[in-house]
Amino acid sequence: MNWYTEQWSDDCKFSLRYNKELHSEQTPFQKIDFYEGEEFGTFFTLDGLMMVNEKDEFIYHDMITHPAFATNPDIKKVLVIGGGDGGTAREVLRYPNVEKVVMAEIDERVFRLCQEYLPVTAKGVEEDPRMELRFEDGLAYVKNAPDASFDLILVDSTDPISVGEGLFTTAFYKECFRVLNDKGILINQHESPYFAEYAENMKKAHRKIRDIFPITNVYQYHMPTYPSGHWLFGFASKAFDPLKDLKAAEWEKFGLETKYYNTDLHKGAFALPSYVKEALLSD
Ligand code: SAM
Repeated sequence: MNWYTEQWSDDCKFSLRYNKELHSEQTPFQKIDFYEGEEFGTFFTLDGLMMVNEKDEFIYHDMITHPAFATNPDIKKVLVIGGGDGGTAREVLRYPNVEKVVMAEIDERVFRLCQEYLPVTAKGVEEDPRMELRFEDGLAYVKNAPDASFDLILVDSTDPISVGEGLFTTAFYKECFRVLNDKGILINQHESPYFAEYAENMKKAHRKIRDIFPITNVYQYHMPTYPSGHWLFGFASKAFDPLKDLKAAEWEKFGLETKYYNTDLHKGAFALPSYVKEALLSD
């Protein structure tokens, strides 16, 4: 039997049985491995960490995308940073009023391999005329982008190690603030509150964003294959409060079928456990 195993903390591991390894490759940026399994279907890892699988990807991609659109249903210009599997772009492109989506992904091989092995997330993304694919560092992309040029930035990144490190810096968040317009929203990968290393990353990211954006919130979602299963996104904005400004009826008019997200869950997702609130407020 073949087992993919990931270290979740010094004393805790997660293992998933797979039938066969579909592909393995070292790119200039990271090691990419694709596996075919039963419980979670096809999945891929970057540098030995689970990224996306066929079974629970809908949770991550619903939650990174729809809360922002239910808060501002008038979003037209979207920047996805990372997101090479295509799942985030796929969800954004479901909105008919979206005019332009730029995806700045550092590693083209992630996208090309997902087109081949993970069509559930990548299929159709490149063909959409509203889509602009940029295979470059997300930090470099935002540095060169004009002021106030996006309504929404979705940071669909790896953890703050290796190539993902720059996407958790004050310099990056400041550039995001600059390229967002007056109503802009930033959603970012906010790590996880449970295991110490991830909780430290969560606190650091939150402090930096809190110092830059006037409105900052954090919401949770449950990913069976990510460390501890309890994960967070940051919601930062220049104008919108995701609870006071929730436009549930307007969002429902889009008529999108979503397997995880709904506007009741939207309200609940921002209600955080006490230990998480405390950690986020600490200096
Ligand atoms: N859902 C996943 C998770 O949180 O485990 C993350 C998805 S994965 C598609 C994240 C993507 O971010 C990878 O394809 C990686 O190549 C990309 N990435 C990492 N650092 C980046 C950077 N500095 N600029 C652009 N893309 C980056």
